Amino acid sequence: MKRSFDLIVVGAGSGGLAAAKKSASYGASVAIVEGDLVGGTCVIRGCVPKKLLVCGSSLLESISYAPSYGFNFENLDIQSEVLLSNIRKEVKRLNELHENFLNKANVELVKGWGEFKNSNTVVIRNRKNGEILNELYGEKILIAVGGRPKRPNIQGASLGWTSDDMFLLEKLPNKILIVGAGYIACEFACILQGLGVEVTQLVRGERLLRGFDLELSSALTEAMQSKGINLIFGENVSSIKGTPGFLTTSTITDKEFQSNGVLFATGREPYLDGLKLEKSGVEVINNKIKVDSENKTNISNIFAIGDVTNRINLTPVAIDEGRSFADRNYGESNRKVNYDLVPYAVFSQPEIASVGMTEEKAIQMIGKENIKVYRSTFRPLSKSIPKKGSKCILKLIVDRNSNKVLGCHMLGEQSSEIIQMASVSLMLGAKKSDFDNTMALHPTIAEEFVTMR
Ligand code: NDP
Repeated sequence: MKRSFDLIVVGAGSGGLAAAKKSASYGASVAIVEGDLVGGTCVIRGCVPKKLLVCGSSLLESISYAPSYGFNFENLDIQSEVLLSNIRKEVKRLNELHENFLNKANVELVKGWGEFKNSNTVVIRNRKNGEILNELYGEKILIAVGGRPKRPNIQGASLGWTSDDMFLLEKLPNKILIVGAGYIACEFACILQGLGVEVTQLVRGERLLRGFDLELSSALTEAMQSKGINLIFGENVSSIKGTPGFLTTSTITDKEFQSNGVLFATGREPYLDGLKLEKSGVEVINNKIKVDSENKTNISNIFAIGDVTNRINLTPVAIDEGRSFADRNYGESNRKVNYDLVPYAVFSQPEIASVGMTEEKAIQMIGKENIKVYRSTFRPLSKSIPKKGSKCILKLIVDRNSNKVLGCHMLGEQSSEIIQMASVSLMLGAKKSDFDNTMALHPTIAEEFVTMR
């Protein structure tokens, strides 16, 4: 018999889980459908295991400073298989934790892959054998299936890895070729280099992290090169040949690279395969689900949140979209998500983090003559005795006329932690004079933000 719910959420990632639990807290009957582990990209094959890899990978650099502080280490050896296996154990623990949270929240977890039968019915299928496991009726349906990595359309592309595969490796390769210059490419280049892998990164453009503050991305380029990452600009892959573990990659300029693996970090796209959206009538434009400012699709009872809508593909945005969906549809609030001033960070080594307009964006929006840029570049105290390691760069972009701080950017230790707090002041509309009137906390890196003159 077809069971009925007030809400069916398709996809148990960060956004879907948040929407399901909050809707249930308002008394809605909720089912959440998931074919994979509960937790989604962020928990299973994204932010969380990636940050754990960053923690492991950055240890060697920290230990390299130890002799300056009087410590001696000999025969340091990295066993990547231990790190990878411990991260998988942690992911499994988190998966179980999320299942328990759903249980406590009174949300029914329905395992299997969801597909539309019509605008109110979701069929749950076992994708391995095609068997239909369940059929659910939902007064409302929320699509929160996220995205997945894209591979370039070249010969031998299936021989390469995507970020998903990196978390499944038993052991790291000795030598890797990374394609791309975005978040994932830069984060993995630094992680792998820190874990002793020989890294070459192919960038089709002339810079890393297009759209980020140029000064920060140039400083990151320098820092990555000085660590030993071989960055090659203006180059791209044309084909891959070989067998897993022994690959030859050819480039558009007829160069050849031998490596034990190739990682494609060439962007992500909404994961629409198998959803049978055409049966629901939901409109898809440019391979993404079109929604209005309340996350409603063109079908009045179907909504979509997170990466499947391909707007700002960040976990906290998907979570907030999920919670505000629940507030609007089952609570008493009309709250919409505030997409202004979303802070973002790249967990490269060193980290980059930003909130608000970059210098380039501010020039484009209000003109160079109307902005003032404050910056501070220095070696942090932790690196003053070792006399090595990357410097910190802190930047404020200020509107000359209103004195308002338009953007706050940082490269260096703890950037993400510092920028998270700076984003509160930008949300409150802080002026440069407010930063100036704030007492410094000494000796810290963040104090430079309130002492720039
Ligand atoms: P990004 O969009 O950040 O970067 C994609 C990179 O791949 C760009 O450098 C792009 O080059 C390049 N590229 C695209 N197509 C090709 C191609 N055919 N051949 C060669 N290069 C190509 O994507 P990512 O995969 O790094 O990350 C996806 C998204 O996931 C991010 O946008 C972000 O929203 C999210 N994410 C967030 C993280 C965080 O918050 N720390 C961490 C990881 C992911 P070009 O610049 O020339 O277009």
